Amino acid sequence: MYACGPTVYDYGHIGNFRTFLQIDVLRRFLKLSGIPIRHVMNITDVDDKIIRNAGKAGLPIGEYTAKYVSAFFEDMEALRIERPEQMARATEHIPAMVALVQRLAEAGAAYRAEDGSWYFRLSAFPEYGKLSKKDLSGISDGARVDVDEYEKDSARDFALWKAAKPGETTWESPIGRGRPGWHIECSTMAMEYLGESFDLHAGGEDLMFPHHENEIAQSETATHKPFARHWMHVRFLLVDGRKMAKSEGNFFTLRDLLLKGYRASAIRLALISVPYRHQLNFTFDGLTEATRAIERLRTFRDRLTGNALAAGENPALQSAANDAQEQFMAALGDDLNTADARAAIFELVRAANTAMDQGQLFSGDRDAILAVLKEFDAVFDVLEDRDDEPTRRAIAWAQSSGREAAIAPELLVRESLSDEAIESLIAERTQAKKQRNFAHADQIRNELAEKGVILEDSKEGVRWKRK
Ligand SMILES: [Zn+2]
Repeated sequence: MYACGPTVYDYGHIGNFRTFLQIDVLRRFLKLSGIPIRHVMNITDVDDKIIRNAGKAGLPIGEYTAKYVSAFFEDMEALRIERPEQMARATEHIPAMVALVQRLAEAGAAYRAEDGSWYFRLSAFPEYGKLSKKDLSGISDGARVDVDEYEKDSARDFALWKAAKPGETTWESPIGRGRPGWHIECSTMAMEYLGESFDLHAGGEDLMFPHHENEIAQSETATHKPFARHWMHVRFLLVDGRKMAKSEGNFFTLRDLLLKGYRASAIRLALISVPYRHQLNFTFDGLTEATRAIERLRTFRDRLTGNALAAGENPALQSAANDAQEQFMAALGDDLNTADARAAIFELVRAANTAMDQGQLFSGDRDAILAVLKEFDAVFDVLEDRDDEPTRRAIAWAQSSGREAAIAPELLVRESLSDEAIESLIAERTQAKKQRNFAHADQIRNELAEKGVILEDSKEGVRWKRK
């Protein structure tokens, strides 16, 4: 499968990451179902915006994009988005793009304009519009568009290769000095790694027209073969019921949310819990709900594994575990219904918690339930607490880039203690209790609580977690 990746001219916002997360759900579900996958994602590291911004910054485009490429990988890691088998950078595939333009020219589907740019001739592909099913009857033959930011409803001959303009990054080639258009990048890299026909092409809903329509036109005109057999388009999110926009003050990057104190796992869960085909209304209440849901899950798992259980099995729980597992896979198999898949698991957690309260959960049930949790987590990946690292990295990034003001004060307090410092305070408290110095032990407990560290005393010792 091929997924359109980021254009690296800025930090990724949560709308971008919703798309990449839903594609991650697809890839994990396919793997869990035993289907081998080869997943290619491109990085668009040359386009109009990049050239414009790099020019403003007075940097070569490679230097300008390097920062955003590494930020993208960091953000992917924070959200636990698995790395595709193949990442492909546009600037590393220029000769293959030129060759595809030449192939289209030979087929009579590409022509050179007066300024030396090359265009795809829409009239060469009568099926144009078959993916988005737009009414394109008003197309006027020969009308052209050469910018990467398109009008949403007008179809025109589009640029395959843009002639060199003064001051722009360009490449020498047999079709003249210039740089690739955005659409030819994806057609070229998809076919380079997956062949002329492949199973699935994914991307955000805004890419269906004209980007994916243009990819189909270029590829199928060149090969006379179907390009992608299936398409997956992830719907965009709203923030507080409105379109996310910098001018609306409701525009968030992943980093913005981490610095407000939200955990990476909660952001992941909030962004995948609504199925990809539905619009997600992103709210801070939703993030808080996701945070609580993850806490419930982790607390349950700790309770399940941390307590001694009597031998035996509870048949009702065994069948609840089976049902949950089946419902989970069936929901994901039903067009990736993440909402129902998640609900099936939380229903099991509820039933098992109740059984544990009543002493009706036995050691034989534990393994069955843990196996279901493991399967859930192979897709959702929120059970293990790996939240500290992304948060610390975001804080360090803000501090080193003049964004200290964006860091929530309570977050700085919460992160002021390292894991080692917490462990050593807990050891000191245990020692104080042994010496019957309860005042000192309580003082340490309170000090930790003020910094958001919660202690739980159990037979096995002291467990702690950050609030
Ligand atoms: Zn693309």
